[in-house]
Amino acid sequence: MAPDVPAPSFRVDAGAHSVVGKVRDHNEDASLVEDDLGLYAVADGMGGHQAGEHASHLAVEVLSFVVGEAFRSGTAPSLDLLLDAFARANDAILEDAAKRPERQGMGTTLTALLVDGGRLLIGHVGDCRAWRVRDGGVEQLTHDHTVVGQRVRAGLLTEEEAEQHPMRHVLSRCLGVSEDLEVDLVEADLAADDVYMIASDGMIPSTSHENLAAAAMENPEVEIAAQVLVNRACDRDGADNITAVVFACREL
Ligand code: MN
Repeated sequence: MAPDVPAPSFRVDAGAHSVVGKVRDHNEDASLVEDDLGLYAVADGMGGHQAGEHASHLAVEVLSFVVGEAFRSGTAPSLDLLLDAFARANDAILEDAAKRPERQGMGTTLTALLVDGGRLLIGHVGDCRAWRVRDGGVEQLTHDHTVVGQRVRAGLLTEEEAEQHPMRHVLSRCLGVSEDLEVDLVEADLAADDVYMIASDGMIPSTSHENLAAAAMENPEVEIAAQVLVNRACDRDGADNITAVVFACREL
């Protein structure tokens, strides 16, 4: 029998930053940093009359509530828990939209990372992105649920063509559309000194993997790394709201 190896555990330092950008008059992004739960998320809402803002905030609130409820009742974190949280967030948005005509058609993306000991649980719908910076290299942990992203994966477009494509913002999946929500669920390992980033699509036109790695390595304070990434992206583009959550795993 293999000897019992204690599960690794880490201290997680997290920070977030968000700007409205140069063009929009309000911020429809929402972020979540819940160190007690090990839960980090970004949501990017859509819909007129501030409904987009409402949808993204509702999504992260329900996510936080469902994971917090499990935590308090001693239920172990799992991909099923994230799936349940996404489904309940989706239901809450649909119910709310059905009651208020000005909120009809509102929706949101949601990308959530949950730290559980030595592993990371990821739930993802939409076109926010999550990355891991490890040993100076950057790996994207999510696929964009956009019409253009599907074409990139099918080999019909390059990443560069996709970034300039007029339909790059058209989502193929988001919360608030249908009771049947398909959620990407991924489990990954955590290692000491890993840095994780979640960002809304406003950061993507002007941010390369080199920028992400540099921000992580030059700014050990994750709050500063989040500010640097968001402010640089806003200087270069700024056509959309820009939000980043950054967290680092430090050895205890
Ligand atoms: Mn956006």
